[in-house]
Amino acid sequence: MSEGSDIDLLYSILDHIGSIFQIVKDKLAEFLPDGSDQMSENYPRYQLSVNELSINIENQSRRFTQMLEEYHSKFYSQEILGHFNTKTGVILFLIRLLKKLGESEYLSLFYVEVLIFDSFSIQTGFSKILNLTEDYEGSFYILGMMKELFNPKMGFKYKWEYWLAQTHSFKSIPYSWREDFKSLLMKPCFRNGYISEFGISESHFDVGINTAMFRVKITRMQEGLYGFTTPNLYIFIEKFQEPNLLLYKYAIFITLVHELFHYFRRFRCSTIEEVRNITTPENSNYNSKEGGTIGENIIFGGRVKFLSEIGAKYLEEHKTQEFDMGFFQTLIDLNDKEIYERTGVVLKRSSSWRRNCLVGFRD
Ligand SMILES: [Zn+2]
Repeated sequence: MSEGSDIDLLYSILDHIGSIFQIVKDKLAEFLPDGSDQMSENYPRYQLSVNELSINIENQSRRFTQMLEEYHSKFYSQEILGHFNTKTGVILFLIRLLKKLGESEYLSLFYVEVLIFDSFSIQTGFSKILNLTEDYEGSFYILGMMKELFNPKMGFKYKWEYWLAQTHSFKSIPYSWREDFKSLLMKPCFRNGYISEFGISESHFDVGINTAMFRVKITRMQEGLYGFTTPNLYIFIEKFQEPNLLLYKYAIFITLVHELFHYFRRFRCSTIEEVRNITTPENSNYNSKEGGTIGENIIFGGRVKFLSEIGAKYLEEHKTQEFDMGFFQTLIDLNDKEIYERTGVVLKRSSSWRRNCLVGFRD
């Protein structure tokens, strides 16, 4: 399909979704006449209406959803280090959304949340994404939304707002910090962790690290989320709200150490489809399926939940000197004790380890 007809298709799907949202809103008004969100007495009738509506949506959307396979293979056959096709990503996302809206279970969760579209339109959100010029920006939104929005159980409304209504800015790591991070990662106590976990050569590791440094972007992540490695190997790290520059710098570094375990697991893949099929082998030594958590265990002896000022100083002072990992481990809090009474960055991320990073336990 040519570029022009892709755009036509995209806007006709957006129009179609816009009309579905309007129908959902009108239906919702019947059950919530005064803008309240209580519908307990109407619930059986409401459930019936959701079921009916999902069947209608499924039928009306068929002309688009039958293209799912075509756009699926077009999207997933992209090379991970090649140009990212944001337009194809948006089309695939929208077709999937239509498919989901045709399922009554999803539609019923979506029903109340659709009220947020009073404050912004879905067209505006996707126009923002389509106007992005950099591959990493398109990758951030599309791959993040695909990861998040079809699992609406937690904070569905918040997530829609985060991905579609908000505009995020991205920064690269400054040159001197990249060099410092590389010096640390090249030390045996860091480097050997990746080499042994993935069975890669030293030169493979060196190439991987040099490539990675240009694919790291700092941005405001969602609450409780500090890192996100996309299937096409961009690494997004939280812009920590930390006034102490040294703590800020090394909070990014510790998160990077974690994300690089996701990165290297995917580095040998050639397409997004291949990345999609990877799963982290369960490692009984560390009782975790989360690749980055396993990595933190390998390198630091446990999950780093807290970085103290003295720990950050040690990293800064030993980036070009001999690094004693055993000693460094005594400077980071692996046990989560009296964490708030001390000076430093909390890296606990979230009370749920599954929210540790957007990659999650799958890979
Ligand atoms: Zn992770």
